[in-house]
Amino acid sequence: MEDTAQRLAKVEAGIAAAAARAGRKPGEVQLIAVSKTQEAVSIRPLIAAGQRHFGENRVQEAADKWPALRAETPGITLHLIGQLQSNKAEEAVALFDAIHSVDRPSLVQALARACAKAGRQPQLFVQVNIGDEEQKGGCGVADLPALLAEATEAGLKIEGLMAIPPADVSPTPYFALLDELAERHALPLRSMGMSGDYGSAVILGATHVRVGTALFGTRA
Ligand SMILES: *Cc1c(COP(=O)(O)O)cnc(C)c1O
Repeated sequence: MEDTAQRLAKVEAGIAAAAARAGRKPGEVQLIAVSKTQEAVSIRPLIAAGQRHFGENRVQEAADKWPALRAETPGITLHLIGQLQSNKAEEAVALFDAIHSVDRPSLVQALARACAKAGRQPQLFVQVNIGDEEQKGGCGVADLPALLAEATEAGLKIEGLMAIPPADVSPTPYFALLDELAERHALPLRSMGMSGDYGSAVILGATHVRVGTALFGTRA
């Protein structure tokens, strides 16, 4: 069985190879290790191997796990990649360095209030429902311009877009569309690509890939 350091090296090599194919530098892509459902005992070896960027999908779980892990190792950045309820906006702003799931006007308003109160703003991504799937989170493609305008008006700086493409079909057209939307709105960051497809995401412009299973093994 591979150990954690070997898995990390393999993912980093995959990112570097994809970046090279696209004429990009590997340093342009940030690897976010998705540690949702993982206990501290599984996360520590990855930190020991040098990984510093982590992603969680729930505020409460992150608040339970990360203060202690952060106290052990300086320089950890924490990314919220799951849906955020407006009533958790303050807690999320206090805990996370980046929020990838800004997806509706009420959340924009809640985050604007929370950031003003805290005097800081995490890096923000608008999550786009890139396949316009009925049950999926994220802002509809057609609603993106209005949501971005609302964020600007509320004093929030949006730096990028995030998407989870539809399952069971090739993700590449969706990665290309997210890249195009980001370009159109002059947003520098693209959060796209997971364990099964981070290579093609990097080729198509990802600046942040969110990888869980390929680093930690299958989730329970
Ligand atoms: C769980 C999750 C990931 C990681 O998925 P893997 O297939 O385990 O790499 C990435 N992004 C989001 C939003 C997730 O919820």
